[in-house]
Amino acid sequence: MNAHTPNPRVQEWIDRAKDANILDVAEKAGAILKRSGPENTGPCPSCGGTDRFSVNTVKRTWNCRGGMDEKLSGKSVIDLYMHAQQPISFLDAVEAITGEAKPDGIREEPPEERQEREARAAKQRAKNEAKREQEAKAEEAKHLRDEATIADILARAVPILGTHGAAYLHDGRKLELRKKFLRDILFVKDLDYWGFPDATSADKRRLGTFPAVVAVIRDVVGNVIGISATVLDPVEPKKWVPPWEAHLPKKERRNDPTKIRGDKKGGMIRLGEIGPKLAVGEGFINVLAWHQLGFGEDDTSLAAAVDLYNLSGKWVGTQEHPTRKNPETGKPTPIPSGIPDTGPDGHGAILPAWVKDVTMIGDGDSERIATRRAMVTGYRRWRDEGRAVRVHMAPEPFDFADVLTRHLAGDDVQGLRA
Ligand SMILES: [Zn+2]
Repeated sequence: MNAHTPNPRVQEWIDRAKDANILDVAEKAGAILKRSGPENTGPCPSCGGTDRFSVNTVKRTWNCRGGMDEKLSGKSVIDLYMHAQQPISFLDAVEAITGEAKPDGIREEPPEERQEREARAAKQRAKNEAKREQEAKAEEAKHLRDEATIADILARAVPILGTHGAAYLHDGRKLELRKKFLRDILFVKDLDYWGFPDATSADKRRLGTFPAVVAVIRDVVGNVIGISATVLDPVEPKKWVPPWEAHLPKKERRNDPTKIRGDKKGGMIRLGEIGPKLAVGEGFINVLAWHQLGFGEDDTSLAAAVDLYNLSGKWVGTQEHPTRKNPETGKPTPIPSGIPDTGPDGHGAILPAWVKDVTMIGDGDSERIATRRAMVTGYRRWRDEGRAVRVHMAPEPFDFADVLTRHLAGDDVQGLRA
């Protein structure tokens, strides 16, 4: 690529681009990436998807599972930019990365090179398109399999009261169980659990059959779109944890006792009928605990959005965390902008039109500032839809389920008020 740039000033200019911070280049190229250790993943600015594009800040490499032009390498940040912004010429990419115009004496890309490069880009686009179609087909097949599995599990499910599932909620999580909140909270006595059999293997295996609490996830009109199933210890009223992971902190365990089947996006776990006043949090146990602590009014209805992302919906762009920094780059960690993405795919849980008054219940047990920015996103989205909205965060470092168990143990938590 550099053969036709003999000018030393040009070579230095290219070297500056090559030395640019890989994460900066990815962001410049339009990538919005989620951090997970040194690995940053997200949609590819060029081929889309959800997590196919990745940048490793330690190895200084990048990859796109959407299909990379065979002439581009995962080691060059210039190639990264060229992939994410294709079709773009090498020199234009260098200019964009360095923010400096081409030094004098450089010759433009000859027409035949440009033609060849554009032909390659077109071929690659066709290949990506075929791959996307294949992925869509695989996704549809998975959707049908999930539907069948969900139907099978729900056919075997029974109301939770009087079961080992009720013992978990009552004895384990200290919830008063009221039938009117629990119509969509069910129990299955024998649910297969698939997970990782040890600390290293890449493949999941059936680790056993367990009693499970199954919560139904419904879309805005009430259709079942998914389930959230939590496997329980067969004897004790607690979640099942593989014995070989019991000594590990939660974040290091590979097997989460709670798994979602089917979809959650746009849906909610309904804790009874949804009325004009609604309190909605992440997990249903937290929402029930919040209510049991005396929050909400007599006519406040309850629901759970399953996770924070489905409570907030998507946001547009990020801002910098005021204190946290990426240990490798020293750059502030990105956190949600708080600006809701109002595009067709941007929504989280969709509320019925008759919901006029919303209390968002926030967990205080994850990183405070990022969680708040996500909550602000959802707050603004629902406020802009014409509803009255407020946010009730659990006092750090707890969620309301923790607060309830502490409260019942006589250990009142400071800072707890509506
Ligand atoms: Zn790509």
